Amino acid sequence: MHRRDFLLKSGALGLALAMGAGSCAPANNLYRGSATSAGSRRLPRVRISPDRVVKETVGLRPYRLLGPRLDVEMLGNKTIVHNYGHGGSGFSLSWGTGQIAANNAAATGKKEIAVIGCGIVGLTTARLLQEQGKTVTIYDKELWPKVTSSMATGTWSPAHLLCEDEHVTPEFKALWEQACTYSFRTYQNLLGLGDIVTWIDHFIIGGRTHKEEPKLHIKGQLPEPIELTRREHPFRAKEVVNQPNMVFNIPAYLRLLTDDFLKFGGKIQVQEFKTLEEVDALWEDCVVNCTGLGAKTLFNDQNLMPISGQLSFLIPQPEINYRLSTPNGYIIPRKDGLVLGGNAIRNNWNTTPNPEQTKIVIAALNDAMMGMRS
Ligand SMILES: Cc1cc2nc3c(=O)[nH]c(=O)nc-3n(C[C@H](O)[C@H](O)[C@H](O)COP(=O)(O)OP(=O)(O)OC[C@H]3O[C@@H](n4cnc5c(N)ncnc54)[C@H](O)[C@@H]3O)c2cc1C
Repeated sequence: MHRRDFLLKSGALGLALAMGAGSCAPANNLYRGSATSAGSRRLPRVRISPDRVVKETVGLRPYRLLGPRLDVEMLGNKTIVHNYGHGGSGFSLSWGTGQIAANNAAATGKKEIAVIGCGIVGLTTARLLQEQGKTVTIYDKELWPKVTSSMATGTWSPAHLLCEDEHVTPEFKALWEQACTYSFRTYQNLLGLGDIVTWIDHFIIGGRTHKEEPKLHIKGQLPEPIELTRREHPFRAKEVVNQPNMVFNIPAYLRLLTDDFLKFGGKIQVQEFKTLEEVDALWEDCVVNCTGLGAKTLFNDQNLMPISGQLSFLIPQPEINYRLSTPNGYIIPRKDGLVLGGNAIRNNWNTTPNPEQTKIVIAALNDAMMGMRS
């Protein structure tokens, strides 16, 4: 089936699982020799305590049961190109689904394009449209730091909380692979631009040594996970896996995209759309809908729901150059702070941080630090 036909028919791109860890590589993997601190494994210690928490957020992942919506529909004389519903994978997939949406918008032959939504999905789509020579205006009711995209942890997780398992069809997988491959390549081109995108070691304590390959997985994209022996890592825990991953330094990254968009002649207009009539009133004939969770009301999409995620930011420690995951919480070093997180509550619209969740994550990570060689 032609890709566009598939998009129009299914209206979806989705996924199943996990933060990238696939089958474990054999113990003699060459990566062993190139770990963060060569020789005896020692890592700088994270200073975790409640009084070092300087910011807390609860972001709402725009989860769509069917996976991201990428179809095209007509609203009166206007062409609406959808690109929303990326769940916990919006940063990872944004360039790939943005490319699909930009091509769909370009196929209308219109020169002026409206993009609704100034999150990561709207910004990347807008930049890709500019690369095709389009004149783009982004409309949004709110700007950074209020948007969901400002509240992400920012790692490469192209298949995390993306859709229900039963919607991972062969067509869906093919489309996901296309988006994932395009995004991955784009991120490699952003390496070296300050610290916007970096590669770091990721140590996974306990429970991440499954041998089964996730449903959506591109072999060879991330280095294979390696089970480390007790002498090869500094933690007390017996089971530790290492799999390097990318980190996106969100504030600087969103700023770079916004600056680039404006430099290329883009305009940003603050405007809320309460009804489809208001969308129809836009003067552009082609509108790309990147409203994330906002599409639930605006486009009456009953397949959308929030999956909330709480983050606690600790005072930055520039020497921390690794990510750590435990069953009850993770820590990710970013320039704007050490990000603690790890919960996901379906259908939760409450964006007030819960002190109990903070306690759980701090306890889990403190436990991981105890007895660690540093
Ligand atoms: C805690 C947490 C951790 C995450 N970690 C990761 C990660 O590590 N890796 C990853 O890839 N992804 C991650 N995500 C997911 C990622 O953040 C989202 O998938 C992504 O930000 C969605 O981007 P978006 O542009 O579609 O939506 P948004 O950022 O929500 O942008 C949509 C924009 O549309 C605007 N809008 C909506 N409705 C209207 C309207 N009616 N009128 C005008 N404007 C409107 C909104 O104001 C908003 O600015 C995480 C999310 C959370 C919450």
